[in-house]
Amino acid sequence: MFRKSLGMYTIHTDGRIVQCSISSKLRKNLEYWWDVSQSPGMHKRVKQVHDIREVDPVAIGDHVRFVGAPDDAQSHCADEGMIVEVLPRRNAFSRPAAGRKPIEQVIVANVDQVMPVFAAREPTPKWRQLDRYIAAAELAGVPSIICINKIDLAQAEDSIDEIAAMYGHVGYRVLLTSATTGEGIDAFAEALRGRVTALTGRSGVGKTSLLNAMQPELGLRVGQVSQATGKGRHTTSQLEMFPLAGGGAIVDTPGMREFEIRHEPAGGGLASLFVEMRPYIGQCRFGLGCEHWHEPDCAIKEATEAGEIAQMRYDSYVHILRHMPGKRH
Ligand code: GDP
Ligand code: ZN
Repeated sequence: MFRKSLGMYTIHTDGRIVQCSISSKLRKNLEYWWDVSQSPGMHKRVKQVHDIREVDPVAIGDHVRFVGAPDDAQSHCADEGMIVEVLPRRNAFSRPAAGRKPIEQVIVANVDQVMPVFAAREPTPKWRQLDRYIAAAELAGVPSIICINKIDLAQAEDSIDEIAAMYGHVGYRVLLTSATTGEGIDAFAEALRGRVTALTGRSGVGKTSLLNAMQPELGLRVGQVSQATGKGRHTTSQLEMFPLAGGGAIVDTPGMREFEIRHEPAGGGLASLFVEMRPYIGQCRFGLGCEHWHEPDCAIKEATEAGEIAQMRYDSYVHILRHMPGKRH
C-alpha cells in the first residue's frame, strides 16, 4: 500500500495501481489491535489531539489482500477495489492515536531499513536524537543506516569523522554526503536501491536535495507530501511511499513520535537497544535488575568509564531512560 488519503488507499500490484476503500468489517475488526493500554503515560498524550476519530487499520507499507470491482475489461473502473485483509506485519512504527483510548496508530510497516539524516551543520546535529532513532529502529527490529549530509560545511571542531567512526565502531553504516558537491551521492543511492527505507530527519538537513540529486524531482514530490502532513490536521492520513527508479521505495517519516520509545523490551531492557551495551547486560551486580544508572558495580557504567562504550551514547541511554513513560527519576 503506497498512499492513503481520507479513506482511499492506493495499492501497487503487478505493475498496476488500484484505488481501494476498506471493508467496514476490517475496520471494526482491527480497530483495537494495537491496544497498548498497559503503557502508562499514554492517556494524557492522547487526549491532547482531537481530530482523528479512530485508528486506521491500514498503514503505509502494508501488504493487503483486496477484491476488485466487478471485472469489466472494457471499463476503466476496473482498477478499483476494496481491502479485505491486512497481512501480518514484519515490523511497524506507530504513534499514540488521537482520541480518548490509549491505542496506537501504525504509521508505516514492513520497511527494510531506517535512514536518519542529519546535517554536519545548519541545523546543528543533535546526536541524542540520532540515538533515539536508531534505538527505536532496534526496538522494531529494523536496521539503520546513518546519513550525515552537508559534509562540505563540516569544520574540524564538529568532529564529524570521530562521530562517524564511533557509530561505525558500534556497527552502523554511516554515509557522509553532500548534495551540494555530490560527494557520497552514489553511496546514498546505492544504499536505498531495491529496499524500502523510512527516511527521517528534521527539515533543513537536506533530504529534498539528496533525493533530487539521486533522482530528479523525487525530493520535491516527497517534500510536498510531508509539508501537507506537517500542517494538515489529518496528520496520519497523507503519508505516501515513493517508488525509486532503480527499485525499492522511500517513505518520509517526520520522526517525532513514531521513533519514541514507549516501552522497554523484555529481557535486557532499554540497554539492549544500544548494540554496544548488549555484551554487558546481566554482568552487573544487580543482574538484569540493573538500570545502569544509580546502581553500584554496574558493568555498563564501568565499560563507559573504561572508554569501551562512548560517553555520549551512555548519556543518550540515561536520557531516554529518564523520559520513558512511568519512570519517575
Ligand atoms: P530538507 O528540509 O531536509 O528537505 O532540506 P532541503 O533539501 O530543502 O535543504 C535545506 C537547505 O540546505 C537548502 O538551502 C539546501 O540548498 C541546503 N543543502 C542541502 N544539502 C546540502 C549540502 O549537502 N550542503 C550544503 N552546503 N547545503 C545543503
Ligand atoms: Zn548495570
